[in-house]
Amino acid sequence: MPDKEFLEAYPLYRKCDFNVPFISDDLPSPSINMFCPNCTSIQTYNMINHYVGYNYVGGYTIINEEIYELQYQCMGCKKFERFFYIKFDVQDKNVFKIGQDPPWSISINTKLNKLLGKNAYLYKYALTCESQSYGLGAIAYYRRLIEEIIDKLLNDILEIIPDSKKPDYEKLLLNVKKSKNAQSKIDIVKNEIPEILRSGGLNPLKIIYDNLSVGLHEKTEQDCLQISDELRTSIIFMVEIILSTQKSKKEFSEKLQKRLKKHSK
Ligand SMILES: [Zn+2]
Repeated sequence: MPDKEFLEAYPLYRKCDFNVPFISDDLPSPSINMFCPNCTSIQTYNMINHYVGYNYVGGYTIINEEIYELQYQCMGCKKFERFFYIKFDVQDKNVFKIGQDPPWSISINTKLNKLLGKNAYLYKYALTCESQSYGLGAIAYYRRLIEEIIDKLLNDILEIIPDSKKPDYEKLLLNVKKSKNAQSKIDIVKNEIPEILRSGGLNPLKIIYDNLSVGLHEKTEQDCLQISDELRTSIIFMVEIILSTQKSKKEFSEKLQKRLKKHSK
């Protein structure tokens, strides 16, 4: 720690475990991939400096809580910089961000915004909760969002399913229509989603299902943040795959149409 995912994706105050003893000279310096406004694209950033408190690190063993400033520079333009302020809690063996510049983004990309339509505000509310580490609040908004978009999402999957499997999936969709809530709808189709929606053997619909089913009363805020993180990444992954598959299918059929027209002349 800190690792790439922690720096790129964790909101402020979300705790991340690390092992002591920890020597500041050995602070890991993973490259990260984040948006650069100069390059207007996702770029690799490398850590160019880190500071403990106000002193440049010479090599101290951490014996108590310490605050670090990490300075990252975009490797594309070698100009734009990102700063992370992280605090090590040696007693509880964890590390968390206490500041970040530019701040953790709660902006929503245009494609997702369009797809979520009038429900986009639920996604933004969830992100706002996450950015403040209110895991329970974030889950409530993600659950509401899923209830609102689940019918469209499951219908859209039909379009990217191989033709030979479409009839079976369509039958399941009839049962989906009769079901009342997202959990039971997902339960019907979760094992029938196409390979393209499974990443590294993980099934995002199953992850959503499991996280909708889990009881929250005994969960800590950190557990809740883990759940909200899984809900968000599963939703985004599915939406992005569905949109890009629809887009490439459309482009392919347009190309085919053009070719056919050309040949028929
Ligand atoms: Zn750049």
